[in-house]
Amino acid sequence: MRTSAEYLSDLMKLKANVYVGGKTVGRDDPRIMPGIRVMSTTFDWAQGPDWEDLMTATSPLTGGRVNRFTCPPRNPYDLMQKQKMIRLLAQRAGGCIQRCMGYDALIALSIATKEMDDKYGTEYNRRFTNYLKYYQERDLTAACAQTDMKGDRTKRPSEQSDPDAYVHVVEVRNDGIVVRGAKISITMVAYADEIIVIPTRAMRESDKDYAVAFAIPADWDGVRLITRPVWVRERKELGAPLAEYGVSDSVVVFDNTFIPKERVFMCKEWEFGRRLALLFADSHRHSYTGCKPAVSDILCGVTALVAEANNIEGIAHVRQKLSEFAGGGELSYAAGIASALFGERTSSGTFFPNATYVNVGRRLMGETIYHEYNILTEIAGGLLVTLPFEEDFFAEPTKQDLDKYIKRNPKLSSEEQHRIWRLVESVGASAMTSWYQIAGVHGGGSPIMETITLNAEYDYESKKDIAKYLAGISKELDQSKYLKEKPTF
Ligand SMILES: Cc1cc2nc3c(=O)[nH]c(=O)nc-3n(C[C@H](O)[C@H](O)[C@H](O)COP(=O)(O)OP(=O)(O)OC[C@H]3O[C@@H](n4cnc5c(N)ncnc54)[C@H](O)[C@@H]3O)c2cc1C
Repeated sequence: MRTSAEYLSDLMKLKANVYVGGKTVGRDDPRIMPGIRVMSTTFDWAQGPDWEDLMTATSPLTGGRVNRFTCPPRNPYDLMQKQKMIRLLAQRAGGCIQRCMGYDALIALSIATKEMDDKYGTEYNRRFTNYLKYYQERDLTAACAQTDMKGDRTKRPSEQSDPDAYVHVVEVRNDGIVVRGAKISITMVAYADEIIVIPTRAMRESDKDYAVAFAIPADWDGVRLITRPVWVRERKELGAPLAEYGVSDSVVVFDNTFIPKERVFMCKEWEFGRRLALLFADSHRHSYTGCKPAVSDILCGVTALVAEANNIEGIAHVRQKLSEFAGGGELSYAAGIASALFGERTSSGTFFPNATYVNVGRRLMGETIYHEYNILTEIAGGLLVTLPFEEDFFAEPTKQDLDKYIKRNPKLSSEEQHRIWRLVESVGASAMTSWYQIAGVHGGGSPIMETITLNAEYDYESKKDIAKYLAGISKELDQSKYLKEKPTF
């Protein structure tokens, strides 16, 4: 497994194809580094013995221990470890751990390539398995580029006035394919080793050129990463872990990009567009049942701490509001555990979470994210957004003023209270705040997408049967499906 220093050194060897604010920048640009530091934690914590069981897994391909972010789950325990790993790492990194997008794309491809081969006699699973082995041996990181530009939302890919609105195949050659188009909102691609591309939606036959999946190095010829980094206000005096971290998202442009055949995992199998898109989405929603509870943990902790600074921690309305964080975060986490216990072993051997539980768990968190920030705002008060700059706490003559007036709780020193308010500002009133709010709603699919998935797959008829039985319309209530259902241990 790589160390974070080796990951960084490999990253610095990539060709310059990252653009920020109209200029080409190196991957060591200070605005990109906060995201790199988040990614680094996924290497650091895989090294020590205490975290070994959580952060590593035995690969059936290499026979050795590999970073868990590279190894598709084989059983419910693996899924629960994945969820717990994401929650614990996210607590340390102040939120999104960013390496799960690529992980979920690997999981989705491990299943879909096998199913496509079974149906069409293609060789995608062999190609993908070779790729996965290569990926595990090098302990790589990947962005998942799923979301297309999409153009006019009411039109299908093949109906768009600009055919490049969705990434598509423009040429099939003996040695590979050529693709064109752009993916948007792609997290961490500016500091990923690889880009994994999958379709964003269901396709019809007329859309078959848009049914395409592949993987390439992040600095591949014909790829441009137009990047928007986000980070919290830099600290000069009061260094703190949270202030080190951030994120970048990119528009990924494929400009007649050649993809070698061995790295193509879907080419025009339009009937599998929906399946592959959903496999990624549901796997990613499972990841959310780990990271969103961590965001709730952070918001809960920051709210409790600022309540202590305000000396109102024990007041009834504060306790009641703190319990709401526990209600949301732990329910979503429980949904992730249930999804593992009632998951399924797919024909590829990859173990997949139960779709109903991941969708209700993810949707709950998407719907409550702004409410959670509202609780922090209510308990903190206005200083959350009016706190003077850090420099004013250290410069004469304002230092004395602020040291004196920042004090609310007599049991805490001025520096502790200043640190608390700086944290509250970073979590509740910074550029990262908006990122987490909007990621909470849309990342991994908007709440409406979870609703659409539930409406497609949830068994409303069986619920109607209960009502018919209770109304006396039916004499029998068939519950045999539920009687047979058992968790997988
Ligand atoms: C912080 C962040 C990080 C992200 N990271 C990644 C990433 O790493 N990789 C990745 O692939 N994606 C990523 N995404 C993208 C994310 O998956 C999408 O934002 C999400 O799926 C919604 O898609 P969209 O943004 O294109 O919105 P849209 O799909 O355009 O939705 C906007 C609105 O239009 C409505 N709408 C859309 N189509 C129709 C229609 N046909 N009829 C009626 N209404 C419609 C929707 O319901 C919604 O209300 C990220 C997003 C965020 C915010």
